[in-house]
Amino acid sequence: MADPNGSLLELRHINQIYGGGEHTFTAIQDVTLSLNEGEFATLMGPTGCGKSTLLRIITGLQAPTAGEVLYRGQPLHGVNPHATIVFQTFALFPWLTVQENVEVALKARGVPPKLRTTRALDLLDRVGLDGFENAYPRELSGGMLQKVGFARAMAVEPELLCLDEPFSALDVLSAESLRGELMELWTGGVIPTRAILLATHNIEEAVFLADRILVMDKDPGRLIMNLKVDLPHPRQRKDPKFLNLVDRVYMVLAGHTQPEHVEMGTAPGEPGRTRALPHINIDDLTGLLEHLDGMPNNRADIYALARELQVNSDDLLRLIEAAELLGFANIAYGDITLNPLGETFAEASIRARKEIFATRIRRLPLFKWLLGLLRASDKQQMEWDVVQKALELEFHEEEAERQLDTAIDWGRYAELLAYDDSSQVLFLEPGGATGFARENFNFPGPA
Ligand code: ADP
Ligand code: MG
Repeated sequence: MADPNGSLLELRHINQIYGGGEHTFTAIQDVTLSLNEGEFATLMGPTGCGKSTLLRIITGLQAPTAGEVLYRGQPLHGVNPHATIVFQTFALFPWLTVQENVEVALKARGVPPKLRTTRALDLLDRVGLDGFENAYPRELSGGMLQKVGFARAMAVEPELLCLDEPFSALDVLSAESLRGELMELWTGGVIPTRAILLATHNIEEAVFLADRILVMDKDPGRLIMNLKVDLPHPRQRKDPKFLNLVDRVYMVLAGHTQPEHVEMGTAPGEPGRTRALPHINIDDLTGLLEHLDGMPNNRADIYALARELQVNSDDLLRLIEAAELLGFANIAYGDITLNPLGETFAEASIRARKEIFATRIRRLPLFKWLLGLLRASDKQQMEWDVVQKALELEFHEEEAERQLDTAIDWGRYAELLAYDDSSQVLFLEPGGATGFARENFNFPGPA
């Protein structure tokens, strides 16, 4: 029975309070939203803002403290049989083969044995696991395990598919291929799924995939933005409208008032000033962000920080500048405050940190320029000297050297660049720079 206005799911004034007595804690505060048939929405926000809690409430794994969940216009009681969640790490039965793991899900749905095998094999084939039917989970890589997780979720043929940061634990290439497969299944209409809700920390991924972007903030967990993405598929990452939307989500997540392109300056050779990359060590930056994450209100007095972290003030100022340039922290009145994006970074896994870092530095004009140079050059590689000379358009000789060293250091961490010290050649990381970041990376359009 379809709802007249096409809404599949509706949340009305959802509140979730954890704990009891004096230690109550509001994890979700007054969340109201609806998800329509045919919609792909993403849920963003810092760790702890309640994304997982909300997904559990939506699928009925957990009843909210207050508020109503409506599914196809009817109040939801107990687990929603039409919805499934794929978690970041999918729990498979280690003693069952890949195929058996999928068949178990079909069995639970009452599919007769003969059909189970055919369906399981078909699903495994669709997620690209053909040939691994008889493998055991321990034999599979993280990406493959997650594919089994997807196959199992698809086996249930959910109308509403909830994905809780399903790509965060994966390497860049596996994440890219799974995203592609998900989009193919979704847009190809081969699964009966009517709506997808994906929790993610990746702004560009969200703008690339979603019809709607929901942004939450924490303390208390609440909805702070509900943005419709009105761009046709396949979306072009260089399209000014695309960039504008990335900017808008970024501004909300980073709590900025200026679009980021205004803050970041111009590329070398372009009119205007190129913002230099602060020379910092990434471990030190990570340390600073983690420290702020542990402070009350994620805030610290800059003057006091030098003492607390035992770094000299020049080094500290460079770290602070980097944190701000990358969009992880805001500075005002002598204080530095970690913003939701910085918080997400500070609390993310190593893989997820690299990915967030990569999306941040790809937006720095100097870095964009460097990637552009490499992409345009023969074999996508260039000699250190040549790039350094080009940077002298903007910086004096020594500074140009330092800029390039810093760019290489950051690019390596983000797995966008590689550098061979013996030949002094710089090149694009085959996986990284062509991963989700690839300019022409297009998903098929919606069905
Ligand atoms: P996210 O997925 O956005 O990181 P979560 O939904 O996991 O956020 O958590 C939201 C907040 O609720 C966090 O502060 C978390 O510690 C808290 N929380 C989550 N589940 C429970 C629980 N079962 N009991 C108490 N607190 C919880
Ligand atoms: Mg979560």
